[in-house]
Amino acid sequence: MPPRSFLAFVLLLISPVPPLTQPLLAQEALPRTPYGQFRKVAVNTGERSRLTVKKNWLGKRRPTHTVPILVLAGHADSQRISPGTRGYAVAVNGARPMQPGITDETFWNLATAKRIAKLGRQRGLNIRFYDPGVRTIHNGDDPRTNWSQGKRHAQAGGYALEIHYDAYGRDGLGSGVIPRVYGGQTVIDEHLAREFGSFPWDFRGVLGAPKRGITILEVGKLEGDLENKLRNPATRDAALNTIADRVVTTMAKALGVPQSFFQVPSLPPLSPSPGTTVAAQQSPLPPQVAVPPPIQSTPSTHRKTSTQGATGAATRL
Ligand SMILES: [Zn+2]
Repeated sequence: MPPRSFLAFVLLLISPVPPLTQPLLAQEALPRTPYGQFRKVAVNTGERSRLTVKKNWLGKRRPTHTVPILVLAGHADSQRISPGTRGYAVAVNGARPMQPGITDETFWNLATAKRIAKLGRQRGLNIRFYDPGVRTIHNGDDPRTNWSQGKRHAQAGGYALEIHYDAYGRDGLGSGVIPRVYGGQTVIDEHLAREFGSFPWDFRGVLGAPKRGITILEVGKLEGDLENKLRNPATRDAALNTIADRVVTTMAKALGVPQSFFQVPSLPPLSPSPGTTVAAQQSPLPPQVAVPPPIQSTPSTHRKTSTQGATGAATRL
């Protein structure tokens, strides 16, 4: 070995190893459930969409894992037009609505969408929630509506997800994804469909949201264990965590967000203030590690509201 090479060799040996690989190695030592103070409770979201067997699409587009994700609450801008389901508790049992002036579905859509954005940000997704603020906007193409915001977001290359709860009883079809049509279906849609169930892309002749590039997620029918755990003040916070965790984890896996970055530190009990966000929130994200993960299925099903609530035929979806 010539002296100069030898010197280089020695220098190599004595130089400290750069800690570049540390995060990857560290992830092996992570606890399986790194949730800390993050309370969860078992929530049964019920049957999956009966139309899952009719899935006629395949989400192949793969956004980068820094893709801006916009979360919307279904019916948050259409209360007197397409209000969403009142839910079993109110419509059948005569319970008081969660909040006067909006359907229980809308109430839970808002709470769930906010929680998804909050949890997602904590875990490294580039995600934000948009609230139109005004609960009835008659013109669907008004720039403040979910439709308009979601469309703009999709046109700019982002991913938009609108949260819904399905009708109770026979009107509901169960949980599942109605994937965006504009922009094409992505791996996020695909993974959410495996987790929650799915609908054909042309469900009801292509709904307004998917047509504009917004994927709809029906969490489950607003009844039974799902509705009870949400309504019960003792389990509400944990139930929202459980649902949000499922959605966020599924999206992160779809995007291949490395697990070492994908953790929940400790989530304090939700203060009802995550509020409206309009500017995208950027989270530092790690280099891509493509890990196509097996998605676990959880029982559930779905269908669009028709007879429930004061809903007319034209459900704005
Ligand atoms: Zn809905």
